[in-house]
Amino acid sequence: MINYLYQEQNWQSQLSDLITDPLELLEQLRLSPEQLLSGAILASEQFKLRVPRAFVGKMVTGDPLDPLLLQVLPHHLELEEHPGFVTDPLAEENANQQPGVLHKYKSRFLLTLTGACAVHCRYCFRRHFPYQENLPKNEDWLNIKAYLESQSDINEVILSGGDPLTLSNRKLALWIERLESIPQLKFLRIHSRVPVVIPNRVDEALISILKNSRLRIILVIHSNHASELDDFTCSRLKELTQQHITVLNQAVLLKGVNNSAQVLTDLSYRLFDAGVMPYYLHVLDKVKGAHHFDLMPDSIDLIYKDVLANLPGYLVPKLVREIAGEKNKTPLFGVSTY
Ligand SMILES: *Cc1c(COP(=O)(O)O)cnc(C)c1O
Ligand code: SF4
Repeated sequence: MINYLYQEQNWQSQLSDLITDPLELLEQLRLSPEQLLSGAILASEQFKLRVPRAFVGKMVTGDPLDPLLLQVLPHHLELEEHPGFVTDPLAEENANQQPGVLHKYKSRFLLTLTGACAVHCRYCFRRHFPYQENLPKNEDWLNIKAYLESQSDINEVILSGGDPLTLSNRKLALWIERLESIPQLKFLRIHSRVPVVIPNRVDEALISILKNSRLRIILVIHSNHASELDDFTCSRLKELTQQHITVLNQAVLLKGVNNSAQVLTDLSYRLFDAGVMPYYLHVLDKVKGAHHFDLMPDSIDLIYKDVLANLPGYLVPKLVREIAGEKNKTPLFGVSTY
């Protein structure tokens, strides 16, 4: 309801006016501060609350179990230790050849240009990752270029994060130009949750940068629930697809948020309305602090079986897990160990 207020506001001011105080968030939603059991404040000190007001505007006022709220509100259960839940579940620190570069997959590699995100998702597998020590500076570009050219299998660079759409258009365009100068590159992928949490980020300036690139652009957004995709958000996404930019979605299967076949079915249809194709449904990475979002393999199988039955094949996201050291995402379903 309050959301139309944000449609007129530019994305930069929205990004500099995030909610970072759990009590303010609860007050906005008319929830009692008692929602925050002791420990939640400590959890928010370990991984700060960060959420754009436009995303809060999509939450249901007065509902402590709102699926969007649960993704961002610090929770005392994050402080619990659980066997197997570790700070670097994907062992990314080992794959980190040089600042900003993460090359684990054959034809594609990740380039991290910023450690900042517009929103802090409590289940994020990078919540403990030492981003800030690991960002490429302008002078690192020549090393990155030399590395890319030494790996002739690479045809795609993935801008990941942090969230690359928190960068200014100037900086984004600069890096895209650099990548365009490498003939072997054909595809540029951008992984971002910003179009969902601050839809105004998808403005004319951004669309013009993307549609004028020599590289084929694939934007992979991250939405876990149809309520994240209001009409305004969908209209911005549709604008991208009308400009021939491929837009895909990845979601994470989360207890309390979207662990139901109906919710996942609604999400796929909503995405498709906006011209977005479902891509991945990730099972939770076992990151320390996220245990309360975890589901048992049997229950995941049951949900996914119904998703398969409910949807046409082209709207079924691939159920996958990222396994440290594997050369691709590992497809799941009906396997005995997740
Ligand atoms: C997921 C991921 C990719 C991209 O994988 P796709 O299966 O092509 O989407 C690339 N590098 C890393 C490190 C990843 O985790
Ligand atoms: S936006 Fe993506 S990288 Fe950032 S906290 Fe959320 S899941 Fe993690």
